[in-house]
Amino acid sequence: MTDTWLNETLYADWGQRFRIKRELARVQSDFQDIVIFESHTHGRVMTLDGVVQITEADEFVYQEMLAHVPLLAHGAARRVLIIGAGDGGVLRRVLQHNSVEQAVMVEIDGEVIRLSKEHLPRIGGIAWTDKRAEVIVGDGIDYVRRAADARFDAIIVDSTDPIGVGEVLFTDEFYRDCARILTERGVLVNQCGVPFMQADELRETSRRRAQFFPDVSAYVAAVPTYVGGFMTLGWSAKAPGLRHIPAETLRERAQAAGILTQCRYWTPQIHAAAFHLPPYIAEHLPG
Ligand code: SAM
Repeated sequence: MTDTWLNETLYADWGQRFRIKRELARVQSDFQDIVIFESHTHGRVMTLDGVVQITEADEFVYQEMLAHVPLLAHGAARRVLIIGAGDGGVLRRVLQHNSVEQAVMVEIDGEVIRLSKEHLPRIGGIAWTDKRAEVIVGDGIDYVRRAADARFDAIIVDSTDPIGVGEVLFTDEFYRDCARILTERGVLVNQCGVPFMQADELRETSRRRAQFFPDVSAYVAAVPTYVGGFMTLGWSAKAPGLRHIPAETLRERAQAAGILTQCRYWTPQIHAAAFHLPPYIAEHLPG
């Protein structure tokens, strides 16, 4: 029997491939082509329009850095808004924080949620039934447009790239509303791609966010299946100083939040170091 491979289509002239053990789902939703398969190397994998979104083997890297960094930098986050993240991994990490009273997740594609619950149950886990969770199927830009001022302590955008349905989440209108619905010490983090291959994405989103947030920067995480080196996560804060919290304070906060022993990537030192960017990445940030 010939081997079947999934060749990622993110970059035209370069990419990764997975030998498929078993295909579990293939659905063309109203928004995108969803495929979930069992791989020989990374457990179960989900792709959207041919682009790797998540693998069971390395999702902890990205999800821990996307969820824990803004919440521990803030230090007392109670209400969190999550945009995208239909696999449920960010929701689970956010709800690990016992300070969180409410987590609202707005995912545009209900099929991503349905198929993730069915074929990637470990990713979202118990978060789907947590009474602090409110899961809404809808467009993130509509949700932030309608939300009340100063409603959230943190906004976490785990979206696809700025192509197709994800494009609106990289606009001035979206960032303006995010700034409006965050509290005074509010923080926005968003996936900004792999700058070695997607420098325009980081530069453009940073320039746009800097119009509405006094403190704009980025931090990095090494996600094996987001190929091309460091993945960048955009940082936008309404108050200065939140990205320079000493590692010892971060440790105390992680202990109090109940997550210190639950991490495989995030540590206080990794958190503090992640904001120290190599020049080939820092050069894309506003001066
Ligand atoms: N971590 C992955 C990455 O960095 O490429 C993203 C994973 S997550 C599954 C991306 C989710 O964003 C998808 O489920 C997609 O449907 C959702 N999404 C895209 N555009 C959206 C929008 N405008 N509003 C809400 N969710 C959106």
